[in-house]
Formats: sequence, structure tokens, C-alpha cells
Amino acid sequence: MDSFETDYLVVGAGATGLAFADALLSTSDAHVTLVDRRDKPGGHWNDAYPFVRLHQPSSYYGVPSQSLGHARVDQCGLNKGFEELASGQEVAAYFHAVMRDRLLASGRVRFLPMTEHLGDGDVRQLLSNKTTRINVRRRLVDARVCENGIPLTHHRKFQVADGVACIPPNFLQHRAHEHGNFTILGAGKTAMDSVIWLLENGADPAQIRWVVPRDPWMINRAFSQPSAAFFHQNYGGTVRQMEALKEAASIDDLADRMESAGLWMRLDPAVRPGIMHGATVSLPELARLREVRDIIRMGHVETIEPDRLGLVDGSCRAKVDTLYVDCTARALGHTGTWPIFNDDRIALQMIRIYQPTFSAALLAKIETLSDSDKVKNALATPIPMTDTVQSWVVSQVAHAKNQFAWSQNPEIKSWIQTCRLDGFGRAARDVDRSDPEVQAVFARLKDMWVPAFANMQALAAA
Ligand SMILES: Cc1cc2nc3c(=O)[nH]c(=O)nc-3n(C[C@H](O)[C@H](O)[C@H](O)COP(=O)(O)OP(=O)(O)OC[C@H]3O[C@@H](n4cnc5c(N)ncnc54)[C@H](O)[C@@H]3O)c2cc1C
Repeated sequence: MDSFETDYLVVGAGATGLAFADALLSTSDAHVTLVDRRDKPGGHWNDAYPFVRLHQPSSYYGVPSQSLGHARVDQCGLNKGFEELASGQEVAAYFHAVMRDRLLASGRVRFLPMTEHLGDGDVRQLLSNKTTRINVRRRLVDARVCENGIPLTHHRKFQVADGVACIPPNFLQHRAHEHGNFTILGAGKTAMDSVIWLLENGADPAQIRWVVPRDPWMINRAFSQPSAAFFHQNYGGTVRQMEALKEAASIDDLADRMESAGLWMRLDPAVRPGIMHGATVSLPELARLREVRDIIRMGHVETIEPDRLGLVDGSCRAKVDTLYVDCTARALGHTGTWPIFNDDRIALQMIRIYQPTFSAALLAKIETLSDSDKVKNALATPIPMTDTVQSWVVSQVAHAKNQFAWSQNPEIKSWIQTCRLDGFGRAARDVDRSDPEVQAVFARLKDMWVPAFANMQALAAA
């Protein structure tokens, strides 16, 4: 078996593996090898449906050293007034350029595409079947922990009878005109995008049926804008979130307070949502989603027959001439966590809520500290992917612990202050700190931190 040496072997060249490698190059002299089963870097973005966009601003997504987009504010469309959101094609092209122009050009990175990691540094080239041993001098970095399930490649968990048209959203633009009715399966961001794509491309709301197994809480995008121009909106939202976390008497009460504060939104005011996956939408997008009136709430779909739809909690008649759009892939398959720094391994996970690339980059910086794994792990409590409001609170506790730990470490604090992926910090750094109204916001946040954290912990344990 052939072999070669490297300092870090990164398994998975998706967004997190690339962000880790990029930050490691900037903060060390290490040699890095990335392997991926795919033929290109960028992970799931290479197979994304054509109308996907980031749901958070581009300006704090990707790798630290290369900007994505121009932080322009959209002047039209459903994201009007907010910072630009890169399309899936733009994100994929960006990651290809990151690999070519930044990582490989450094002379310190080797990329093995179409190569599967078998375990312990052994890899198999998928075309030649040749295996190679990669001797890892420092650590193996598992960048698959946050691997995404997507409709194009996932394994469907329901049966589709012969003659029924059921497609992933990747083919919607080619197949939609062949049908008179559409049924969207699933209630995540992909399903929302598919509903909006149909409406924006001329479908009548009456042609659309939506199977929503559990209603989602959605985050209002107005509160995730990173520039100082949005300071009062953004940090005003953080103040209201802290108030909700401080005052809430129960999980439902917390969700209601988040909704009253305008931070969270739901499809139907009469239906209490059951999931919180962090889908982020604007008010105009929500208004479009609410145009769909035919919503089936009978749990997950199990069977699709030409004239009948079988669901966990019942069945209903299927409309004739329906195109089913499968949006049921679970974007993040896991909700558990593992120690991040563990002997000869690093298991990349989120350490800031809903910020996978910032997290991966910061983990590279933490790795370069000359400290023990115990100290490194104390700076990196893993944040599970959220499923319900309860798990959102658990994640908020871990998020708050990390924010506090970083604020106590001058090296980490200063790295974050210069990292372009720190979208939340940017608005606070660039704003005029001598403005009394700005000072009042910071004072309010400082006052609430301790009681909000205490109540958060109580809610998380309930
Ligand atoms: C539709 C959509 C929109 C999103 N929008 C945003 C957003 O706006 N902002 C945001 O922060 N996040 C967003 N996300 C989250 C996004 O998924 C993550 O930011 C990120 O792309 C996940 O990257 P990853 O590297 O963890 O996983 P992946 O992209 O899944 O990459 C993992 C890679 O590991 C490889 N691999 C797995 N096993 C092996 C093996 N044994 N050997 C070799 N290679 C292997 C796979 O081939 C894959 O390429 C979005 C996600 C989706 C699905």
C-alpha cells in the first residue's frame, strides 16, 4: 500500500472541512490533506436544488480568508432591505475557488477527490480502488459530523406507487409545467423554498397542497443582519431574546415571548409549532407561505398512491395530476454531541448556534493554542443541532458558555474580532460606542446576562 505523511487529515471537504483548513493555514505552518467522496470541494452545495439560497447573509458564510459576495443590500425581491444571500451555484463556485486559489495555491494542502476514508487514515480511491495509508502527524479531523442529508441523494422513507410523479426539488423547474397540482412534502427550509418557487413562478396557491408533519418555528431574518446600520434592529432583537429567556416560565411561554417580540414566526397563528430547525425567512417570504391554504397535518407521509395519500395519523384523497416534491431529507441527521478535541482526533461540530463555518474556523484557531485538550474543550462545548424549542434552549446554554469562555481568553477574543465570519460581533464593533442609545443597549444586555443564563439552564433541564 502506498503511503504519505501529513499533519492534519480532514475527512470531508464540505463547508466545515474547508473553513477549518483555511483557518489552520492562516494560524499555523501545518500541512493539510483533505479527502472527499465527491469529485469537488463544497460538499452538499454541489448537489443543491437550483433555486436554493443561503438563508443567512453571505457576508458571514464560508471560509475566513475569502469573502463571499459584496455585503450588498438587496433592492428588490423577497429579501429586499436585507444583505444579499448567495445562491447555491454561487456557494459551490466559491468553494471551488477557495480550494484552487487559496488552499492548493498555498503549497501546503493536498486534496484527494473521489476518495473515501475507510478509517484510521486509510483511504480508497473510488475509481481505481487503490488504497493509500495517510500517516497523520498531528490529528485526524472528522468534518462529517454535520454532514447534510439532501433530497437528491437521501433514502426516501415512504413508498411511491407506480405512475405517481415524485421528484426532489432539483427537477422542479423541468417538470412543474407537466402538472396541474403540486404537493410539497416536508416542513423544512427546502419545502418553504419549493412553495415559494412555485408561487413566484406563477402557480396559483390553490394548485399547491403542503404536507406539514410538524409546524416549524421560523427565525425572522430581520434580526440576523451583520452591519452597524442594523445595530438597533439586531441588538434590539438580542435584548428582547434575553428578556424572553430571563422571564419565560416554560418552553411554550418562551416560544410565545419570542413570537411576541417579533423574533420567531409561525405559519398559522392557530397552530402551535412542534419543530425548531432554525429556518430563517423574511416577512414577505412568510406572507407568501401563508397563501397556501391546503395544509395536511397528519404526520409524516408513508405511502403515495395515485388517488390516496397515506400518512402516520390518517389518510386523504390525492388530487389528480399531482407532482409530489420530496423535501423530506433531514438536513442534519444528528442531534447529539461528542467531545471535540479527543487525543488524535477532532470532531468538528458547531460551537456557535447555527454557525457551522464560523465554528469550524474557530476550532482551527483553538487547535493551535499550546494547551491541553481539556483546556481546548473548555473553549468548545459542542452545540447540538436543534429539533424542538427545548433543544434550542439546550443549544443556547452551550452557546452562552462558549461566548463567555471566549471573552475570557485574550487570544481567542482578538481572533474573533478580526474574523469576517463573526457576523454578530461586527455590528457591535462598527457602531458608534459613544452614542448614549448604543450604550443603553449594551448596559441592558450586561444587566440581563446572569439572570437570563440561570433561567435558560432551568428551562433546559425541565
Ligand atoms: C439548503 C441549505 C441551506 C443552508 N443555508 C445555510 C446558511 O444560510 N447559513 C449557514 O450557516 N448554514 C447553512 N446551511 C447549513 C450548511 O449545510 C452548512 O453550512 C454546511 O454546508 C455543512 O457542511 P459540512 O462540511 O458539515 O457537510 P457537507 O456539505 O455534507 O460535507 C460533508 C462531506 O463529507 C464527505 N464524506 C462523508 N463521508 C466521507 C468519507 N468516509 N470519506 C470521504 N468523504 C466523506 C461527503 O462526501 C461530503 O462532501 C444550509 C444547509 C442547507 C442544506
